Amino acid sequence: MAAAAAPALKHWRTTLERVEKFVSPLYFTDCNLRGRLFGDSCPVAELSSFLTPERLPYQEAVQQDFRPARVGDSFGPTWWTCWFRVELTIPEAWVGQEVHLRWESDGEGLVWRDGEPVQGLTKEGEKTSYVLTDKLEEEDPRSLTLYVEVACNGLLGAGKGSMIAAPDPEKMFQVSRAELAVLHRDVYKLLVDLELLLGMAKGLGEDNQRSFQALYTANQIVNVCDPAQPETFPVAQALASKFFGQRGGESQHTIHAVGHCHIDTAWLWPFKETVRKCARSWVTAIQLMERNPEFIFACSQAQQLQWVKSYYPGLHARLQEFACRGQFVPVGGTWVEMDGNLPSGEAMVRQFLQGQNFFLQEFGKMCSEFWLPDTFGYSAQLPQIMRSCGIRHFLTQKLSWNLVNSFPHHTFLWEGLDGSRVLAHFPPGDSYGMQGSVEEVLKTVAKNRDKGRTNHSAFLFGFGDGGGGPTQTMVDRLKRLCDTDGLPRVQLSSPGRLFSALEKDSGQLCTWVGELFLELHNGTYTTHAQIKKENRECERILHDAELLSSLALARSAQFLYPAAQLRDLWRLLLLNQFHDVVTGSCIQLVAEEAMCHYEDIRSHGNTLLSAAAAALCAGEPGPEGLLIVNTLPWKRTEVLALPRPGGAHSLALVTVPSMGYAPAPTPASLQPLLPQQPVFVMQETDGSVTLDNGIIRVRLDPTGRLTSLVLVASGREAIAEGAVGNQFVLFDDVPLYWDAWDVMDYHLETRKPVLGQAGTLAVGTEGGVRGSAWFLLQISPNSRLSQEVVLDVGCPYVRFHTEVHWHEAHKFLKVEFPARVRSPQATYEVQFGHLQRPTHYNTSWDWARFEVWAHRWMDLSEHGFGLALLNDCKYGASVQGSVLSLSLLRAPKSPDATVDMGRHEFTYALMPHEGSFQDAGVIPAAYSLNFPLLALPAPGPAPTAAWSAFSVSSPAVVLETVKQAETSSQGRTLVLRLYEAHGSHVDCWLHMSLPVQEAVLCDLLERRDPAGPLPLQDARLKLTFSPFQVQSLLLVLQPLPN
Ligand SMILES: [Zn+2]
Repeated sequence: MAAAAAPALKHWRTTLERVEKFVSPLYFTDCNLRGRLFGDSCPVAELSSFLTPERLPYQEAVQQDFRPARVGDSFGPTWWTCWFRVELTIPEAWVGQEVHLRWESDGEGLVWRDGEPVQGLTKEGEKTSYVLTDKLEEEDPRSLTLYVEVACNGLLGAGKGSMIAAPDPEKMFQVSRAELAVLHRDVYKLLVDLELLLGMAKGLGEDNQRSFQALYTANQIVNVCDPAQPETFPVAQALASKFFGQRGGESQHTIHAVGHCHIDTAWLWPFKETVRKCARSWVTAIQLMERNPEFIFACSQAQQLQWVKSYYPGLHARLQEFACRGQFVPVGGTWVEMDGNLPSGEAMVRQFLQGQNFFLQEFGKMCSEFWLPDTFGYSAQLPQIMRSCGIRHFLTQKLSWNLVNSFPHHTFLWEGLDGSRVLAHFPPGDSYGMQGSVEEVLKTVAKNRDKGRTNHSAFLFGFGDGGGGPTQTMVDRLKRLCDTDGLPRVQLSSPGRLFSALEKDSGQLCTWVGELFLELHNGTYTTHAQIKKENRECERILHDAELLSSLALARSAQFLYPAAQLRDLWRLLLLNQFHDVVTGSCIQLVAEEAMCHYEDIRSHGNTLLSAAAAALCAGEPGPEGLLIVNTLPWKRTEVLALPRPGGAHSLALVTVPSMGYAPAPTPASLQPLLPQQPVFVMQETDGSVTLDNGIIRVRLDPTGRLTSLVLVASGREAIAEGAVGNQFVLFDDVPLYWDAWDVMDYHLETRKPVLGQAGTLAVGTEGGVRGSAWFLLQISPNSRLSQEVVLDVGCPYVRFHTEVHWHEAHKFLKVEFPARVRSPQATYEVQFGHLQRPTHYNTSWDWARFEVWAHRWMDLSEHGFGLALLNDCKYGASVQGSVLSLSLLRAPKSPDATVDMGRHEFTYALMPHEGSFQDAGVIPAAYSLNFPLLALPAPGPAPTAAWSAFSVSSPAVVLETVKQAETSSQGRTLVLRLYEAHGSHVDCWLHMSLPVQEAVLCDLLERRDPAGPLPLQDARLKLTFSPFQVQSLLLVLQPLPN
């Protein structure tokens, strides 16, 4: 071995840059090492192509008419696909060499060989060559035909100018290289080593001796290595190996490097392209697993695996094979990586139920960690839901995006609303798309906020968001860093190994209680109002359809529970709850597909509702052929519009028992209003209108604003003195970059009240069972709204039915209600419960929550009195001081320039109350607004008597869901899900009028509690709840006589 020359000079910068030039792909490639990476090359024997607007299966595509093509050809436009047939002949002289197909084109490519996908080829994802053979043998066939399927979109779609701009439909793509070449593996290895040495020299810095050791080792390598003389390489390699072989100490931090590829299920590209993104990314990951037995790849989102199973069954089988070997690790446990804020509690449960069952069925086991690296905040109920779905570990990194406060932990115990705890880890490098560089490895240790408490961190590497995934180079870098003095130890590891290591340190960890609020992307609670409205509506339809189908199953021997249909509809809803769909941060193409999914859920869901109602009615004679159904677990008396012959409607006050039905009232059987006071409507000479139902009295000024809202019994005024409610306000809404996502704090400084014209307010419905007033309001020269303010007999809240024609750019519409209530905190509904947030801006953590999310209600209460604001499809909200504000519409232009333009309809309601919101019934009122009584046509006469299936003795406990059990062998087992909604410890009775044979508690995955059946007492069950606890029950029904 030749001795390495000692460095003669010691100038840090020149030495460093000398090495950089030696590996540079830009400079001195005529004589440097990088220039020798590839040796001989030759063009492909023949290239031809076929262009199509469709995403064709391989078998169909290769039958098409391929035309001659050349390097330099353009193809497109956006969203089309160009199939290339590549005929290869490897020169005989290359025997003994490693031969690659080098391919560079715009767009995302997938190589097919012998009818199977084998590797992705994407310039952006640093995959530009396909290894034809590691070593060409004499007897190997040297002619070969491959196909390259190139999608006309980049990893991140086809934004015009900027990544998040709306796609450019005219974009053209080009193939810039298609050739065979010999790769010099020894050059490649030296390049990897030199880059790592450079990374250490730079990353450790001039006050670290290891930095100099790295730099001088690299310099020596350059001295001994002559790129033109491969025989000099072994000496250079030996120098590198000696350096990387110098071990670190026992206390070294351990980095768990897990291959990953974040694929947004739809975002800047349509759902259908995601199917292909999965294939391109995962087949590449499989290839890496084959070449690197220690490489482990974590993959989330059951829906994506389901797609691959359907469209690429061969690839799916390989994924299963590598899952058995422990190299392909399904993670997450959910159907998709859903938004962490907006989905209902039940929808979140279904994400896990559908996901975990899929993983169990396809890969033999459920996931043990919840994986949500890229979602815009995390509900305080997630720890409980996770725990009850067999999951104790949670991974994300998104809170590193906080604009204001830096989250104080990377490894901690996360305690949810009910006290459930999970072990949470945020990869301290604050990314899920690492490349394996020294800089990232050092950052993972340096930035770790829990240094000293735990000595392990995750490091997720691979191109992500639009797919791509890891490369061989990333794997090689990380393998080289397995144990080198000066750096943390790097293991190619699995999420399971990481969390086991963290578990051992859990005694040292701190606890974070409550939601993980992301201080960014707060516009996603409001953007794309139509998607949000459909989300809420479809959650309701599936709730109602499951309940009625369950009741029909219990009562009718002929009824078949539509389990498969309901599962498919749920899966569509869950798909749309992906973190760039329900949030409204997707392109127009995705929004249109999402609306089609909602249309499917609505139309099929309504068909299922009718079928179940018909089965419930069968054989019970009654009037009118109309069934009034209450799908909520408490008795309701409400005004309902009943269809009358000739298409007319008539208003009737009806009473329907809990989770049951009542016959429709005939004109003769209409309930007398007494003792309820009818609604009085009165218009004053100044144009103002008063609505009064004896419970609340509402006064509107002549422009429709609320000047007074009084609880009649106590005379308490709910509107702040001298202020007006129902005040629409417009804000300038120009974020810093993420247009559809972000509303910034400074938008609050641009508040402009929308002033109406006196004289527009008119009486609508004259009173009796219902009174209303309505008005028009010009919001701006381009946008207008009309509103009907409605008060029903016996109803504790006033509703505001609103229609808006919205044509704005970068404006934000809200409605405000200044309350005569003082409190430092407001309450907001979340999944299976509620939580408080401050109404002031004391600390940075307080003011960073200037725009928050809520579900169906929010409430501002002081001792003895409060005001609740309910809604039927909104999620953005805030309370500052005493002003409750509901976020209505935004007008961002990227990535969908058309988003939210046009007509909208929504309802909010205002409910003043005495006492606490719990005792005053705000929660059932918000349910009522969202789950109207149903008037369902019965095929024959409807039943004559009212009937209730279930009721609960405590108003604190909500029976949320009734459905058939997933794995019900005879089909006659129901699942009931209940939760404690007041935040209290409570004992209650569940009353059932169904023939129940056995009742047993189960978890959210419907697995029986080993403690066994609960005692049934006269069709009653006693249940005990702690605050915000969710409990599920399996009810085995008695067989019905046929
Ligand atoms: Zn994402």
